[in-house]
Amino acid sequence: MTAADRSRAAAHLSKALTYRTISFSEEDLADDSAFEAFLSFLERTYPTVYERMNVTLINKYSPVYHLKGRQKGKLPVLLLGHYDVVPVEENTMTDWKRDPFGGEVHESHIYGRGAMDDKNQVISIMESLETLLHEGYEPDRDIFVAFGFDEEVGGEQGAKAIAKYFEEKGLRFHLVLDEGGAVVLDTVEGVKTPLGLIGVAEKGSSMIRITAYGDGGHSSMPKKGSSVEVLSQAVLNLMRNPMKPRLTPPVRELFHGMAPFLGAKGILLRHVDWTFPVLARILSSSSVMNSMVRTTMAMTMAKAGSAMNVMPQEASVYVNVRILPGDTFEDVLLHMKTVNKDLDLSYEVLVREEASLISPHESEAFKAVERNALKVHPDAKVLPYLMAGGSDARKYEKLSDHILRFSCVRMTSADLDSIHATNERIHVDQLFGMIRFYVELLRDYETSE
Ligand SMILES: [Zn+2]
Repeated sequence: MTAADRSRAAAHLSKALTYRTISFSEEDLADDSAFEAFLSFLERTYPTVYERMNVTLINKYSPVYHLKGRQKGKLPVLLLGHYDVVPVEENTMTDWKRDPFGGEVHESHIYGRGAMDDKNQVISIMESLETLLHEGYEPDRDIFVAFGFDEEVGGEQGAKAIAKYFEEKGLRFHLVLDEGGAVVLDTVEGVKTPLGLIGVAEKGSSMIRITAYGDGGHSSMPKKGSSVEVLSQAVLNLMRNPMKPRLTPPVRELFHGMAPFLGAKGILLRHVDWTFPVLARILSSSSVMNSMVRTTMAMTMAKAGSAMNVMPQEASVYVNVRILPGDTFEDVLLHMKTVNKDLDLSYEVLVREEASLISPHESEAFKAVERNALKVHPDAKVLPYLMAGGSDARKYEKLSDHILRFSCVRMTSADLDSIHATNERIHVDQLFGMIRFYVELLRDYETSE
């Protein structure tokens, strides 16, 4: 990229961050003018993309771009991103070094909500296409790009509708690439090599409310077995009896890949098939590692009582379950009931979401992402991994066996912490790296066999 290309790209992301495209769910009274304005900003800023590619709007706000390839019979590629952002909490406004919707650049960082999640991706994809199309880019297969507008609130209106649109067209994809993993630094203790983590699966995120019952009455003469007492016992039972740890293919591969960097500890990882029973116990002490090897349960809200001197007749806790691929929602519910078989409880399913399928890491699609990520970050070790969080990607499961989640951006744990938080920002060099990655990846489909 020339210096002029770089400053233009940085200016485009800056501008993109000034649109308050805060995601809203259907019930919210939304001010959608920001979404319309953002879309016309894209159209103004990337004229070649709009001229050469077919643009369709799904549900008014999700653009789908289509470029026809030279050959028929090759499965197309789909690049994804989303341009909605989470809100900025009112009481954190004063902690921001720069206006979260100002698109300001400070010490080579572009500040603003969406700088890392996920307008950086949207802008990088558009920049790369604009440049390539300008140079007369002609891929061997069809290229599709689609942007969601409600990823942060579940993607029902955006990603889900886009996927349905593709299903109705009978399309299948060679590769679906969404956000998710990144090139991470200093996240695994002892590993100095940057790890390029490509998400090949996501855990399912379900919500269950557990309620315990009691007699109520005045708190001056409390009876045994109150609702809070029973519920507390239930929570303790769940915490003390977690679900069984299990090794899934991407995590096995991740452990193998990390082993050489971890010295003596690495030996356990290298022989993980044998050492897993011991290793799992050690890993349980790290919340990150624990989340990789088992279905986890987190108590996120609890409710009981309405007066300080009255025994509550009901007490309930909300459990966020993150389901490991291989476990099912039914397994989780059965586990909860088994562990608490002596207690009188009711279970209410609020959200039921299974784990995603696992995309293989020994595939052409994975290798293409790996190869081109390494062109930008040659010092990195690329590995598959399992995402504990969720993305739009799972909505595309029917459309491809190769759904990968990766942004080609280097992140320290401080950068990681800024996502959805205060002072979200991206270093301009990281933005340029992302653009280069998409340029290289797309060029791969110009010449591939
Ligand atoms: Zn995102």
